[in-house]
Amino acid sequence: MFGSKSSVTSAQVLDALKGVIDPDLHRNIVELGFVKNLEIDGSKVKFDVDLTTPACPVKEQLKEECERRVAALPGVKAVAVTMTATTTGRAFAGKVAMSGVRNVLAVASGKGGVGKSTTAVNLALALRERGAKVGLLDADVYGPSIPMMLGVQKRPQMTPEKKILPVVAHGLATMSMGYLSDDNTPVIWRGPMVSGLIQQFLGVVEWGELDYLVIDLPPGTGDIQLTLCQQAPLAGAIIVTTPQDVSLLDARKGLKMFEQVNVPVLGLVENMSFFICGHCHQRTEIFRHGGGQGESVRLGVPFLGEIPLDPEVVLGGDSGQPILLRNPKSAVAEAYRKVAGAMAAQLSIANAQAPAQNNVKLFWNAGSAAAGGGAAPGGGPKPSGHDHDHDHGHSHDSGHQHGPGCSHGH
Ligand code: ADP
Repeated sequence: MFGSKSSVTSAQVLDALKGVIDPDLHRNIVELGFVKNLEIDGSKVKFDVDLTTPACPVKEQLKEECERRVAALPGVKAVAVTMTATTTGRAFAGKVAMSGVRNVLAVASGKGGVGKSTTAVNLALALRERGAKVGLLDADVYGPSIPMMLGVQKRPQMTPEKKILPVVAHGLATMSMGYLSDDNTPVIWRGPMVSGLIQQFLGVVEWGELDYLVIDLPPGTGDIQLTLCQQAPLAGAIIVTTPQDVSLLDARKGLKMFEQVNVPVLGLVENMSFFICGHCHQRTEIFRHGGGQGESVRLGVPFLGEIPLDPEVVLGGDSGQPILLRNPKSAVAEAYRKVAGAMAAQLSIANAQAPAQNNVKLFWNAGSAAAGGGAAPGGGPKPSGHDHDHDHGHSHDSGHQHGPGCSHGH
């Protein structure tokens, strides 16, 4: 429609873009449906590449390749590529309904003290940094540490519909038992109480529109954790471990737990992998190095990355300034970003591989009811303009997703 006869055609542009292969899915971006809004104006070509997560680790690489291939076409003088993302998700039957939340992710560990909460906080911030809408639920009711790590101690507000509003901290929508208890009196939680509380956190909290809700699970892999994982509409889980054998053994238990409840394990994260001396910058492997990676291979789950041990992480955690904010250029912050990207990519792949009826782009309904129980009726967040005709059920899809992977469209 634009330009003269000699200008490049859309077919030629799309043909060139067919050479851009998604590194995870081994399919080209045209076939995956990522290329959108293609416009040709004489020698100028403009289009969007719509990924399935803003945290895609190969975003820049894909952009450059698109530009290069199209720029090489005869008659093209300028190429403008805009990278966009529409986070994909899946629908779950029989779980607490969570209007507006596209992906619920669990961060688990076989035991306490391995850095699970620190990882949950920094991963949530890393996803947020890439432009995703992110929530963080502190389900570690025995030792809620998220309020301290984020430096917030506010009481959540209630809406007139008796929904609880999350506390916004560093751009994250957060909820923790720590916001609700007045003092430091330890609460004796029993299994049924914990699961009731989690149902409330999942169903009664007005989370709003979120691309990712990260749940910091209580440490361990017992019945309580199992119940949590059964109730929450988990799209995936990650397991945090340290390099020692005993911790890896616990990671194996974690994997079994998620297998039991059919939740895909997106991968292992090895925390406190090595230490870089602040003075001489020498790297020291405090524990046996490579345990997490080796274990991932043995368990057949992806290895998402290793986080160095850095005393500044502790300072950040204690002062309400997580390392990603306190020292964004540090090696630890960069390591968390890498893990977040790898996790988001694995999640997009898991979503794409889900059975067809679950593999959808979610259009949520206000007031959707729980399919399997637990969620408070009514008052869900207003969907973003896609709710028409979809008023019967738990969460709704509209049309199929045809895109896997991080860059893996929809
Ligand atoms: P968990 O949730 O597994 O019990 P936490 O996240 O609360 O563990 O971390 C336990 C302690 O270890 C905290 O003091 C935290 O600051 C510290 N920590 C976690 N990760 C690291 C790291 N990579 N380097 C240094 N200290 C860390």
